[in-house]
Amino acid sequence: MKKILILGSSGSIGVNALNVVRNFPDKFKVVGLTVNSNIDVLEQQIKEFHPEFVVVTDESKAKELKSNIGNLCDVLCGYDELANVAKQRDYDILLGAIVGFAGLSPTLEAIKRGKRIALANKETLVVAGEIVTKLVLENNAEIIPVDSEHSAIYQCLVGENLNEVEKLILTASGGPFLNKDKSFFENATVDEALNHPNWKMGSKITIDSATMMNKGLEVIEAKWLFGLPVEKISVVIHPQSIIHSMVQFIDGSVKAQLGLPDMKLPIQYALTFPKRLKNNFKRTDLPAINQLSFFEPDLGKFECLKLAFDAIKTGGTAPCILNAANEIAVEKFINKKIKFSQISDLINRALDKIENHLDPDIETIFECDKKTREFFLNID
Ligand code: NAD
Ligand code: MG
Repeated sequence: MKKILILGSSGSIGVNALNVVRNFPDKFKVVGLTVNSNIDVLEQQIKEFHPEFVVVTDESKAKELKSNIGNLCDVLCGYDELANVAKQRDYDILLGAIVGFAGLSPTLEAIKRGKRIALANKETLVVAGEIVTKLVLENNAEIIPVDSEHSAIYQCLVGENLNEVEKLILTASGGPFLNKDKSFFENATVDEALNHPNWKMGSKITIDSATMMNKGLEVIEAKWLFGLPVEKISVVIHPQSIIHSMVQFIDGSVKAQLGLPDMKLPIQYALTFPKRLKNNFKRTDLPAINQLSFFEPDLGKFECLKLAFDAIKTGGTAPCILNAANEIAVEKFINKKIKFSQISDLINRALDKIENHLDPDIETIFECDKKTREFFLNID
């Protein structure tokens, strides 16, 4: 029986993780759940999964939950409790499903304890990949990716030698604006950008898919997860999202992992690896899918993808600046403060103006994230 702590249980990945856990009551026990503010969803989850404790970041929501559920479980409150529970409570696997930079500090605590991390929160590796992967090795911890592309690559690499990898091929759906002209970005609405053709996800990653920043973040994530230079990581547009990614080896052979666009499968794999467990998820019906197609991405149109490639080539704190600027720009776009086309402009401006520190330690990463957010307070 594995004890699981789920960070971000009210989100798209968190809810899907509980859908997986529900199928295996004799294999997994949920010991802790955390949410930012959605206590309605959390209350249902508490009643079904009986965790020992929950963390609610928002203070007034935490109070409300306490009065609603009495002593069903410990209710902790505030952002710092995320790192505290990761550091102190008893669990085997941390499922990191918080969105953004906020996922970093609790993940670091789990790594220091040598835990398995089923990692959806790609931002952790984007902002501090070098530090995180070093810490994983030092503490004998494990990061098993939940992101579907990285799960695909992880599965393709089982039994293989990393020295024999020629390149990783990350597939990208191209998002809702794949077939739109760049001029469309001027007036693209929030609803249009949130209307992803294949995946139902949280709003931040859905906007990231529309700008293709999501694929840029995934290139950086892949670099650190698999320890390969960025020159060996490529992106191909595959609108059907059936091939989740591929590995090409030095003899020219290409391995791919296929499946329906459903996050339950990579989540289950991250929880059960190296084993596979039988489930009743819908199977991939290739004749019904009929066609798989592939294109080169247009870096002139999807500037965010180019910015991410440039940031990881620059190194140091550039990916951290890129990530923080992207989080702010996406939030501004969702709140209708900027146009879709301005997302890449703002990120570019931050990368241009904020000083890059090579070889950062973890304090420098936290400072850099803060500085980038402050930078945006002073511009309009
Ligand atoms: P979401 O917005 O649906 O859920 C985010 C969760 O994190 C919620 O439970 C929310 O309460 C919590 N949260 C948000 N901000 C927080 C904060 N500042 N402090 C504490 N908790 C906070 O997001 P999602 O789509 O589930 O994505 C989660 C992560 O997984 C992201 O890093 C995303 O890139 C990654 N991911 C998601 C998918 C997907 O299919 N949704 C696929 C691959 C990777
Ligand atoms: Mg992905």
